[in-house]
Amino acid sequence: MNSKKKLIAGNWKMNGRLAANEALLKALIAEIGNTACDVAVAVPAPYLAQVQSLAAGSGIAVAAQDVSQHEAGAYTGEISAAMLKDFGVCYVLVGHSERRQYHSETDVAVAEKTQRALAAGITPIVCVGETLQEREAGQTETVVKRQLAAVIHLNGHCISEVVVAYEPVWAIGTGRTASPEQAQAVHAVLRAQLSAASEHADRIRLLYGGSMNAGNAAQLLAQPDIDGGLVGGASLKASDFLQIIAAAC
Ligand code: PEP
Repeated sequence: MNSKKKLIAGNWKMNGRLAANEALLKALIAEIGNTACDVAVAVPAPYLAQVQSLAAGSGIAVAAQDVSQHEAGAYTGEISAAMLKDFGVCYVLVGHSERRQYHSETDVAVAEKTQRALAAGITPIVCVGETLQEREAGQTETVVKRQLAAVIHLNGHCISEVVVAYEPVWAIGTGRTASPEQAQAVHAVLRAQLSAASEHADRIRLLYGGSMNAGNAAQLLAQPDIDGGLVGGASLKASDFLQIIAAAC
């Protein structure tokens, strides 16, 4: 039985402008009420201050989409965990497949970013997932286990402080969602790997991400090892995001 508070995190990706962000957040805040699950929005870095201010007291947590693997210094364009903390960031996405794919992020870099976030008191949402080619080659389990293994042993921190998101790359932004059974099967593999590494594995929230929407969220979120969702496209429309939140609570 899964009794953890579910987490629904929206990933705005590189979308939004000042006016659109305000309209979206106001629409969410007007309807969200006292939701029984945790809600976060991962916003582009320039809008962290705006979203921090608009979301204050609303129950919507501010998340970032990336963090530097370095602490500080000559890393032009990078944003440190301490800087994110200055803007009240509670969660940060780490190792999103778009970062792995377009910015050549390695498992080692993802592990370093995870450490930086934890050291700053920010909960990393570590993303893992296989490509279509890997799935078709029967490598799903090997790939996600390798990606998770890279972050499982943390200096001075316990893996139970992390949120893990299973996001099959072939389902992200494609409208092609993993079936609840497919998603649950991978989540069970990840849970077993976490259980072998930590006696607190039951506390770890495992999110599913990949074309989650108002129509499929309830079934996905009903799976025993799915503790929430990481939602891209559907988080940009208040009514869709609110329906997903309602399905989680
Ligand atoms: C994502 O960006 O993490 C994601 C899951 O996107 P989408 O919901 O659009 O597939």
